[in-house]
Amino acid sequence: MPRPIQAFVHTDALRHNVERLHTSAPDARLWAVVKANAYGHGIERVFEGLRACDGFALLDLDEAQRVRAMGWRGPVWLLEGVFDARDLELCSRLDLWHTVHCDEQLDMLSRHKTQVPHRVFLKMNTGMNRLGFKPQSFRSAWSRLNQLPQVDEISFVTHFSDADGPQGVAAQMALFTQATQDLSGERSTSNSAALLRHGSAPDVAADWVRPGIALYGSAPDFPQHDIAHWQLQPTLSLRSQIIALQDLQTGDCVGYGATFRADAPMRMGVVACGYADGYPRHCPTGTPVLVDGVRTRTLGRVSMDMIAVDLTPCPQAGFGSEVTLWGRASSGAVLPIDEVAHAAGTVGYELMCAVSGRVGFTQD
Ligand SMILES: *Cc1c(COP(=O)(O)O)cnc(C)c1O
Repeated sequence: MPRPIQAFVHTDALRHNVERLHTSAPDARLWAVVKANAYGHGIERVFEGLRACDGFALLDLDEAQRVRAMGWRGPVWLLEGVFDARDLELCSRLDLWHTVHCDEQLDMLSRHKTQVPHRVFLKMNTGMNRLGFKPQSFRSAWSRLNQLPQVDEISFVTHFSDADGPQGVAAQMALFTQATQDLSGERSTSNSAALLRHGSAPDVAADWVRPGIALYGSAPDFPQHDIAHWQLQPTLSLRSQIIALQDLQTGDCVGYGATFRADAPMRMGVVACGYADGYPRHCPTGTPVLVDGVRTRTLGRVSMDMIAVDLTPCPQAGFGSEVTLWGRASSGAVLPIDEVAHAAGTVGYELMCAVSGRVGFTQD
């Protein structure tokens, strides 16, 4: 019998979230961002749930090959473009759309031999200052790109740095619109936060939206808003079981460092889940958790393979009781991953990507 911890990928929730995001931008096509192995879910495990999207966007060439291997004949976009001239051969062979964000990528493309011209997204740096041409050099990059026989249609992309925060998207949007206004081509600007929070502002949804995190049932602007507010459902559940019980007396301590001390007699469960499974060690006493679908809290430090939970709100719980670390319990009760991430001082993105290799996955 393996350790009882398991991760579940919920196909119905993925379908729901795609539909939900479509309603925020009914006229735009939707890239499902599946980089980082579909935010830790596994590309093969999300494919069915996301197939109502219009294209898959990702970073790794290996991941692009896997999407093609699943039988997807629609658009696939390399969000960072190519890293090496040889990558362009794979773009030709697998019909991958790719970003062009720097002169080096333009050089590689100009030397590439291909029968079929490529679809490319020319990227503008409107303030994030990671990838892209500055607005003032965008025009000359476009001219160069436009003259290449290797290039078919040119589309335009930028990425917002504060779509989830107080600055919003207006300033970056203005730069992008201004520098592309007389160029013809499709446009894509919005990640999850921009789509949900600013998608109804003019041109923000544009021709293509490209949500990632919201597809996976995490609110991009938690704690300001939660997934219930955005009508999203969790797509990844981490579940385990209680493997031991302890009756604590007043003054008894729990776990390494004895950081939790009982101020009254209480019943406590030990869960087969620790930081070696990807549960964050930074979660303090009081981090929410579901036992048999009932909300309770963790006690003391997270160890490598175990955590302790307070059984006061669930007196029927015992050996083998289901524990939902985040996501959806068998009963249907939901604990958003954002609440656990927040308790650990991080974001849902990081927790999803960090579920460790020793955790078995099931698609349901
Ligand atoms: C990751 C990424 C996205 C998706 O972002 P979310 O915040 O997960 O919605 C969109 N566009 C680009 C360029 C990205 O790298």
